[in-house]
Amino acid sequence: MTLEDLPPLREVIAAYGLAAKKNLGQNFLLDLNLTLKIARAGGDLSSATVLEVGPGPGGLTRALLLAGARRVIAVERDQRCIKALQSLVGASEGKLTLHYGDALDFSLEILGEEPLKIIANLPYNIGASLLIGWLRQAGYISSMILMFQKEVAERITASPRSKAYGRLSVICQARAKCRKLFDVSPSAFTPSPKVTSSIVEFIPYPSTEISWKFESLEAVTQAAFGQRRKMLRSSLKSLFLFPEKILQELDLDPQKRAEDLAISDFIRLSFFVKT
Ligand code: SAM
Repeated sequence: MTLEDLPPLREVIAAYGLAAKKNLGQNFLLDLNLTLKIARAGGDLSSATVLEVGPGPGGLTRALLLAGARRVIAVERDQRCIKALQSLVGASEGKLTLHYGDALDFSLEILGEEPLKIIANLPYNIGASLLIGWLRQAGYISSMILMFQKEVAERITASPRSKAYGRLSVICQARAKCRKLFDVSPSAFTPSPKVTSSIVEFIPYPSTEISWKFESLEAVTQAAFGQRRKMLRSSLKSLFLFPEKILQELDLDPQKRAEDLAISDFIRLSFFVKT
């Protein structure tokens, strides 16, 4: 069987009884035009290994293969989907490998040295945790095209002094160039979620350009945004004995709040964290 001969996704869902499970964040995409648009946002896939988290019934997985991906590794936690995906594995001519398990435990290290692209319609309940885990291992990744709830996408790409600017914005933008590509309406999913979603592109900066420690940046953002209404001289007390001295050394106004600082300011502050 070839990719073109596969039965429609609705038939796959019916045949394998893939009633959506809420606890696994199952909102499936059945429109091949949309899944192809997401796959193509990943650029040339012909020399890449693509990691997809949560292939579900395989809509985006089919699109990744049709878009010319050299190799697709898909990690899925629902055994029913693993069974439903077997015919796609057969049609993929050896390009698709399935892993049954929790993507939160999946280490990128085992995928080797090839350029790795992560393209996924993420389960919303663990989307941000997966993202932080990948940014921690960003040295292995050449790009990511990921679906989030629109509100999360806005936090990822937010600028200083905006309501959405917070820990997630700083950690993401410090490690990668982040850009919202397009919104996806709830009606595109089966079942429909309550809110609009967005596709976000991440291009990690080369590891050689990263001199700061991930844990230190996490500690600074946690202290600063943990009490975001407080001035820095006070919110940073949970992390530094004499925050005013450090702020002065960095030429930062101690009366400012976390939302006033640029990404580069958080990075400079992170060098003062004792690890
Ligand atoms: N890719 C499919 C699509 O676009 O139609 C399904 C996307 S659905 C939003 C999320 C998928 O992630 C589901 O198939 C779900 O079973 C799977 N999933 C949920 N939690 C997971 C986990 N911890 N590890 C791996 N897969 C998970």
